[in-house]
Amino acid sequence: MRWSQYLILLLITSLMGLVSCRSYQRPFDRAKDGQLLSRTTEERVSLKQSCRKYPAYIPDESVDGQLVPERVIKINYHIMNSSDTSHAFLAEMATPYVQELTRQMNIKLANNLAMSLPAAQGTPVLPTRLRLEISPIPGMFWDDGIYYHFDDELYTYVHTGRNRNNSDMRVINKYAIQPDSVLNIFILPHHPDSVISPTYRATGVGIALGKSIKLSGLIRTGLPPSEFAGMTLHEIGHILGLGHTWRYSDGCDDTPYHPNCFYPGEPPCDSLISNNVMDYNHWQQAWTPCQLGQAHRNLSRRTGTGRSLLKRDWCQPLDGKDLVIRDGQIWEGEVDLFGHVEIADGGHLTIRCEVSFPEGAYLLVQPGGTLVIDGGLLTNDCGLPWKGIILGCKGSRCGHVQLTENAEIQFVESTDAVSH
Ligand SMILES: [Zn+2]
Repeated sequence: MRWSQYLILLLITSLMGLVSCRSYQRPFDRAKDGQLLSRTTEERVSLKQSCRKYPAYIPDESVDGQLVPERVIKINYHIMNSSDTSHAFLAEMATPYVQELTRQMNIKLANNLAMSLPAAQGTPVLPTRLRLEISPIPGMFWDDGIYYHFDDELYTYVHTGRNRNNSDMRVINKYAIQPDSVLNIFILPHHPDSVISPTYRATGVGIALGKSIKLSGLIRTGLPPSEFAGMTLHEIGHILGLGHTWRYSDGCDDTPYHPNCFYPGEPPCDSLISNNVMDYNHWQQAWTPCQLGQAHRNLSRRTGTGRSLLKRDWCQPLDGKDLVIRDGQIWEGEVDLFGHVEIADGGHLTIRCEVSFPEGAYLLVQPGGTLVIDGGLLTNDCGLPWKGIILGCKGSRCGHVQLTENAEIQFVESTDAVSH
C-alpha cells in the first residue's frame, strides 16, 4: 500500500471515530427509548401517598430548596362601616393603614424567628418563602384592592355572647371580590352595644372562614398596624391549613405543647412563652420547618385549598433558575419549576409526583444520566407548550429514561431537538 493510501485510510478511520463519538441531542421517544419500570398496584398507591407528606415541601437552602419557591399570596381588604360612617375608618386613614399592615406582615414573613420555647431550642430557622401582595381586579387600573362598604346590617363583629356573629359568612358572601383567587380580609368594628358592655373585650381579634378572614378591634385600640401583623398572619396560617399548637395535635413534632402565654409574666409564663405564629402571643413570628412544610404543601399541591390564592408566576421561565442534577435525587412533592433541568453524567433523578415545567423549558438527560418517572406527571401547569424530555447522546450512548406505565408527559411541543 502506498503512503497516500495509508493517509486516506487513516483519514477515513479518524472520521468514523469522530462520527461514533459525536455529541448530539434528540427528543425522547417513549416507544423507542423508554424502559418500562413495573410496579404493583400496592406500590403505586403507596408511592402516590408520598406526594401528600409535608417533608417534601419544607423550604431549605440546598438545591432541593429550589423545589419550594417563594409563593406570593394575593390578598385584598374590605373596610366595613355603618351608613352614617360612625366608625371613622375612612379611605384617607384606612388605605394607608392596611397597606402598612401588609408591609408589616411581609417583614415578619421575611424574618422568621427561632422558636423561643425551651423544648424547641435548636429547631432550624428556615426562610418562610411566603409573601403577600394586595391584588386589585386584573385590568381595572383604578382598583387598588381596598374596598369600602357601608352596611348597617353587616358592618359589625361580635366574638362572644348571645349576639356572637364572628363566624357568620353573610358579609363575606355579600362583599367578597375574586373570592376564589384572592384572600379577602374584612375589617369590621366591634358592635357598639358590645363595646359598652363591661364583660366584652373589644380587643384585636380575628377568624379565618374558608378563604376569607374577618378582623376586628384594629381601629378602637388605637394601636399601629404592626401590632396586628402577627394576628393577621395567624389567621392566614389557618387558611394555609395550620392548626393551633399549644395543646392540640397539629401534625408537627417541632411545635411542643405549652401554656399559651400572651406576654411574659408569672410562672409558667416566665419561661414557657411561645413566639410561634400559630399560638396566641405578642410576636407570632416563628414558623417551624414542619409548619412551613404544611403551608407549602397546601400551596404546591394541585388539590391544595390555598393554591388558587397564589400569583401564578411559574408558567413562564425565570433567568437563573435552571437546575443541574449531578447526584441522586428523589422528588417526592408536587413541584413548579422556573427553568430547564439537566441530569448530568452520573446524575440520577426520580420523579414521583407532578412536576410543572415553564413554557419552552426542557428536561435534558445527558449520557450517563438517568431519569426515572415513577408514577409522576411532567407537564406545564398552565397548559402551555414545553420541550419535553431531550436525550443527550454521545455516539450510540444516550441518557437513560425509565418510566412506569402510569407515568404521564403532557403539553410537549412537537419540534426538533435543541442542540448546542
Ligand atoms: Zn387560631
